[in-house]
Amino acid sequence: MICYGAEVANGEKHLVLVTGGGGGLGRALAGAFAGAGYGLVISGRNQKTLQTTAEEISRQGGEIRYFLCDVTRKNEVESLAREIGRELGTVQVLINNAGIARAAGFLEMPDSLWEEILKTNLTGAYNCCKVFLAGMMQSGWGRIINIASTTAKVGYPYVTAYTASKHGVLGLTRSLALETARRGVTVNAICPGYLNDEMTRDNARRMAERTGKKVEDILALFAASAPQNRLIEPEEVASLALLLAGEKSAGITGQGINIDGGAVMV
Ligand code: NDP
Repeated sequence: MICYGAEVANGEKHLVLVTGGGGGLGRALAGAFAGAGYGLVISGRNQKTLQTTAEEISRQGGEIRYFLCDVTRKNEVESLAREIGRELGTVQVLINNAGIARAAGFLEMPDSLWEEILKTNLTGAYNCCKVFLAGMMQSGWGRIINIASTTAKVGYPYVTAYTASKHGVLGLTRSLALETARRGVTVNAICPGYLNDEMTRDNARRMAERTGKKVEDILALFAASAPQNRLIEPEEVASLALLLAGEKSAGITGQGINIDGGAVMV
């Protein structure tokens, strides 16, 4: 039987860090890992959403701590690592989930939006890999799970910055997987399609304002872009992340795994 629960190293539970842990997918990831018995840290910039997530998970009996950290600032990621190291130990499972998405036509897109998206989605993941990988290498065991998107595999219009950032995340994943392949560390990306969460509803609301269509119609169009004609539940992504974090997934590395109702088949 394959057990996806907390793996045990030297008698201790593996410690998981979920960046952007107060958001829609972050909450689902945190809930799944806490439920499976992992030691859990979530981070982000918004104290209120982090605290709400931490309280929800504690009420369900999970062990969780939260820390403020902007992933675009390397010094904040370094001090996050120091604090976690001092209080909790080595992060053995890193889930790079923090991300932003904003649509804009290429010519109208301000340079600042391009920079912000690349800095958050790609450099943010880079900063966390750079800071947390050393501990995994030293202990000879680690899992890095980058939350990418189907936009890591194919292009979509009006999201050049987001698409470029997620293609970059997949490139980072593949190269880092090669560098760590003999060190007990796996590096994979999860590529979700449209999720049934607030980020998707926000995007639908913005598109509704621009086009005069109804939000529900736009959500229906998002769903219809997948052969299964539905949005993906954050919990489905969390269950794939649990699988990748498990001991029995040691042979899966360098992959970008789509979870998108069949929308993208590369
Ligand atoms: P949310 O907007 O709900 O969550 C995004 C999270 O990222 C927030 O918790 C936010 O936390 C955090 N974040 C943003 N910028 C920073 C930063 N500079 N430093 C630290 N944390 C940051 O969206 P989702 O939960 O849907 O998105 C999670 C991931 O899933 C993203 O990487 C997204 O690209 C990806 N994804 C989402 C899809 C969807 O349809 N929703 C589809 C495919 C992929 P805070 O505000 O506290 O900083």
